[in-house]
Amino acid sequence: MKIFLYGIREDEKGYLKEWTDVHPEVDIAYTDQFLTTETAKLAKGYNGVVTLQMLSYSREALQKLHDYGITKISVRNVGLDGFDFQDLRDLGFSLTNVPVYSPNAIAEHTTSLILRLLRRVPEFDKKFNNADYSWFPTIGEEINGKTVGIVGTGHIGSVVARIMQAMGAKVVAYDIKPNPYLENLGIYVDSLDEVLKQADILTLHTPLAKKDVHMIDAAAIAKMKDGVVIINAARGALIDTDALIAGLDSGKVGGAGLDVLESENAVFQKKFNSLDDVKDPQFKALINRDNVIITPHTAFYTTTAVHNMVFDSLTDNLKMLENKAPKYPVDISED
Ligand code: NAD
Repeated sequence: MKIFLYGIREDEKGYLKEWTDVHPEVDIAYTDQFLTTETAKLAKGYNGVVTLQMLSYSREALQKLHDYGITKISVRNVGLDGFDFQDLRDLGFSLTNVPVYSPNAIAEHTTSLILRLLRRVPEFDKKFNNADYSWFPTIGEEINGKTVGIVGTGHIGSVVARIMQAMGAKVVAYDIKPNPYLENLGIYVDSLDEVLKQADILTLHTPLAKKDVHMIDAAAIAKMKDGVVIINAARGALIDTDALIAGLDSGKVGGAGLDVLESENAVFQKKFNSLDDVKDPQFKALINRDNVIITPHTAFYTTTAVHNMVFDSLTDNLKMLENKAPKYPVDISED
């Protein structure tokens, strides 16, 4: 069997070698380029394709793969928005993704955002940059004893709940479909409003359904405790960023840890000469605050997660090629 991989980064290459050591019967080849109409030809002669989430996959590129006899595509991450499922159906493709690669990666990053805000790390960084090595008066706070509100208790939120409980927090959680395995933790309340009302620290871990765009808006922030710390490592548009900025300006919101932003595509994964070159007004309004920490959608990015993305996508692609059931099939029968 021969599998071709697109969009391979340096940090993935070691895991490719590890995987082929376990599967010497499979020939793989790869490029750092993404799958496009031009690069589709690189996969000629291969049986399956592994790719990375893209903003869009052109029908022409998929048509070329189809013409080369390739009908199995595996995506190394979660997002499938870039595919037109109708194209996949028309061309007879089967698809897999990796919906869960390391919930701990995101849960631990969430925890680090909370801790860095509570222990005022941005202020200590500034002091150190000015050769000020004093602790007074930069006093911190503890997670122990705080109420942590979790919205969404799926793969990631459930790990956050356990970590926060282990650190001595009272956890209150809301989920439209509570997880029966978490019922014994006694964390669930009946409504989002109840979480908003009780939380000293609020952290979001839901997908971005259309109805949940701006789940946290000015009205939601008004229901929160004064000085609430808000963490978002889920999807940027869950928060109305202008409302968050207004809450930070007024002091209603005491801090924010943001791994995702509504307008992140304009900034994240780009290298600017200076902040002056960044045009996004919301990013500029947030970035220089002592009580805001922004990370560039990096919560997922650990060696464990990258290993799992490479291994699970390749293994599922091989399973499909061998007509076996993959671990993570994607239902493309409906748009
Ligand atoms: P999941 O599907 O396992 O869990 C989501 C949970 O949210 C489910 O239990 C669901 O019932 C619940 N939910 C859905 N809508 C809700 C609502 N309106 N109110 C309350 N609960 C609701 O998802 P997951 O794997 O835990 O991922 C959670 C989020 O993290 C997603 O938005 C995902 O895109 C994001 N994510 C971010 C990164 C990163 O690097 N920052 C990496 C992976 C995933």
